[in-house]
Amino acid sequence: MIHPAAARAAMARALAAAELSGADDVPVGAVVLGPDGAVLASAGNRREADADPTAHAEMIAIRAAATRFGDGWRLTGCTLVVTLEPCAMCAGALVAARVSELVFGAWEPKTGAVGSVWDVVRDPRVTHRVTVRAGVMESECAAVLRDFFAHHRS
Ligand SMILES: [Zn+2]
Repeated sequence: MIHPAAARAAMARALAAAELSGADDVPVGAVVLGPDGAVLASAGNRREADADPTAHAEMIAIRAAATRFGDGWRLTGCTLVVTLEPCAMCAGALVAARVSELVFGAWEPKTGAVGSVWDVVRDPRVTHRVTVRAGVMESECAAVLRDFFAHHRS
């Protein structure tokens, strides 16, 4: 399991990656770390910018990491670090990609699928399990979202 200090350092990178989100997109950032801790990919949320319902930060980062990691589509031993609790689509992609560990920052009580609404990655019926560390730099991650919604909703 990733060391707490390494998880925080990676979350700082994920927060920076949130700036890759589209101007009208909810700012969410994700990075994928290889088993050695090196960054394989980083991405922001591009759903609005790319008019793509699947262009969540996690999906973009997982796709990019798989092309670089060299084990086909598998990300075994890799860690995905994301500023917000993944949705059902992204949690499903984590399982499908065989990602070993997930680190996330803020909770998403309305759509979160790693403990809030569902728990896709630890469902006993799912054969691949993902180790989860939740709430890393939670207040910093939540602040980015709060700032965005304060300026995009009247
Ligand atoms: Zn998602």
